[in-house]
Amino acid sequence: MTLAQASIQPTQPIPIQPAILGQSLRYFKGVGPRRLEQLAELGLATVEDALYYAPSRYEDRSHFADIRSLKAGMMATVRGKILARSMRRVRGGRSLTEAAIGDRTGILHAVWFNMPHLAQQLVIGRSIILYGRIELGRRPQIIHPEIEQADQADQAASEAPEATSSLHMGRIVPIYPLSSGIGQRYLRELMWSIVQAHASAAEDTLPERLRQTNDWLPLEASIRNLHFPSSWQALEAAKRRLSFEELLTLQLALAQRRAQTEAKLKPQRYRLDGPITQGLQKALPFKLTRSQQQVLDEMLADLGRSSPMHRLLQGDVGCGKTIVMIWLLAVAAQSGAQAAVMAPTELLAEQHVRLIQHLLGPLGVTATLLAQGVAPDQRLSREQDIAAGRINIVVGTHALLERRVQFKRLSLVVVDEQHKFGVLQRAHLAAKAQEPDVLIMTATPIPRTLALSLYGDLSVSTIAELPPGRSPIRTLWLHESQRDALYRLVQEQLTQGRQVYIVYPMVVEQAQSDLKAATQMAQRLQTGPFKHVKVGLLHGQMKPQQKEQAMTAFSQGKIQLLVSTVIVEVGLDVPNATVMVIEHPQRFGLAQLHQLRGRIGRGAHAATCVLVGEAADEDVRKRLEAFVATSDGFALAERDLEIRGPGELFGSRQHGTWWRFRIANLLRDSQLLEQARAEAQTIVSQDPALSTPEFSHLRYRVHRLRQEPKDPKKP
Ligand code: ADP
Ligand code: MG
Repeated sequence: MTLAQASIQPTQPIPIQPAILGQSLRYFKGVGPRRLEQLAELGLATVEDALYYAPSRYEDRSHFADIRSLKAGMMATVRGKILARSMRRVRGGRSLTEAAIGDRTGILHAVWFNMPHLAQQLVIGRSIILYGRIELGRRPQIIHPEIEQADQADQAASEAPEATSSLHMGRIVPIYPLSSGIGQRYLRELMWSIVQAHASAAEDTLPERLRQTNDWLPLEASIRNLHFPSSWQALEAAKRRLSFEELLTLQLALAQRRAQTEAKLKPQRYRLDGPITQGLQKALPFKLTRSQQQVLDEMLADLGRSSPMHRLLQGDVGCGKTIVMIWLLAVAAQSGAQAAVMAPTELLAEQHVRLIQHLLGPLGVTATLLAQGVAPDQRLSREQDIAAGRINIVVGTHALLERRVQFKRLSLVVVDEQHKFGVLQRAHLAAKAQEPDVLIMTATPIPRTLALSLYGDLSVSTIAELPPGRSPIRTLWLHESQRDALYRLVQEQLTQGRQVYIVYPMVVEQAQSDLKAATQMAQRLQTGPFKHVKVGLLHGQMKPQQKEQAMTAFSQGKIQLLVSTVIVEVGLDVPNATVMVIEHPQRFGLAQLHQLRGRIGRGAHAATCVLVGEAADEDVRKRLEAFVATSDGFALAERDLEIRGPGELFGSRQHGTWWRFRIANLLRDSQLLEQARAEAQTIVSQDPALSTPEFSHLRYRVHRLRQEPKDPKKP
């Protein structure tokens, strides 16, 4: 058995987890059919789901804040009696519920909007607990607080604090994420009974050695403290322990995949040096940067190995990934092998074909385009040529993935702008060959922690410098009232012979929206302020041929001002363009903005990126300010991760990943992740199948992670 098979099919049976962990929650008190459904909405079906269901926050109810001591702006948990309440309608049909809450030290006013049914819960004389932001105006207020009834037993506890502390009171209390229909108290009580009864069934996954050197809490104690922490320190320790386990599981799965790749043998052999690469060297209009040369050497070494290359090439927009890719294509061609390049848009695929034909065509290399826009009969004949091996290099969109596209001897697969594709699409293309060498390229800057999670099974090369002679891009954020100044700036550049992009979020204007759109604006700009130049239009709903015409005209300088949508985001390379205007920038994410800005500053002329518009909210303002402040893609990616959180931006939706974290947090846990990765590498190098008994529980987890269904929404 090869190493690869060993790691897919462990020689030892996969350990069965204790049956109790898989038990349905229906057997718990208070869980009927309706509840069962509501719990399922939260992802809670089994005991194990519940044990790992992390609270979103905790409240320290061992001390409630005295109303007298409240400070403006603080988040506070207050406990008091309801003294008065009222509910009324205000303008616009909204309802306003108010209550006065008193403790021994003062009175606090609570205010809720549009929660008309709340009034019923606010029984005068009852004790409640409120959590929310404090405002001090004319009187102390708490705005739209969360509330929980403090019941009789708890009252007893608080009036005589030495008495038994209850579940909801007198301790650090977990606050769980809820869905409609499920109350905080209900869930907390259910969790308590599950944790009490079954935390001990969760068997420790981490080998003793690891637990001791890191001083990790045992699993059972970690689970108990995750839900009902005995102190803030205990909670931290529990989270770290559980996060580490989760990160280690993922890193083990990735390390196994990598070991599998390395154990494979590929059929193809390459001629690394020969007439075609030598010809390319001569045809190159510039010298490769040191960084480009270095990653190229890494990849040539990969091609020379007997196991297939699985490599990620990353590098900021404009750093020159394309030429490195073309070098590899040249190697494939001079070795008599076929190569395929997949690009996310037809425009980019066309641009690649043109460049490949320009550089390699004279050396006898044949390249062709496969995409939706190619006429059917032409496509058919190209497909025949590919299948017969008459074409060396095929560039295309996802049209390449179609079953009818068959290669004679496909050996090298490249995916450009890979973040635009799902994991499975990548796999589909690679499946058209036997153990092909695979290169995936991305300019989307990814923070290191995330890269290690997403691509931990790949080798990574980074182009860390831009080609020489680029002047830095200036970025401005202008207000609508500065539009005249903007148009003067654009005009100046046009007069000097430079070209300009103006990007809008939409193709056509819509009735309900004030957003300006590319189609209408192209007309208005052409007939208005930019009469004397040629204004072009480019958007995703145009026919492929029209798109290509517009793009070609722009790159040949026949169009000076290109009005477009975000379609120009990926890959386009027109070094003479020096201005990128982005209208309604609040509509674009940081990664997109960065890609758009990457369309300029590709030549020797100074370039300017201009955002026009307001920030509707705080997050947008932070995002746009970060964008103006730096053009370093990696710094931006870190910032984006901070602003939006790891789930949002890079979660499974965008990347088609096959895992999600329950406890770990890529922002908070970057060090743990590094540690887990190093540990996983050591473990897999010593015991690739995790077959020794100390890894048996980890083996089960890794196995299960790898079994998890792929994201069904991504094709
Ligand atoms: P990206 O990495 O974003 O795909 P490209 O490969 O499109 O970037 O390269 C951006 C521009 O830089 C292109 O116009 C390309 O011709 C130019 N370029 C690439 N490498 C060099 C180099 N070593 N010296 C000068 N210009 C280069
Ligand atoms: Mg590119």
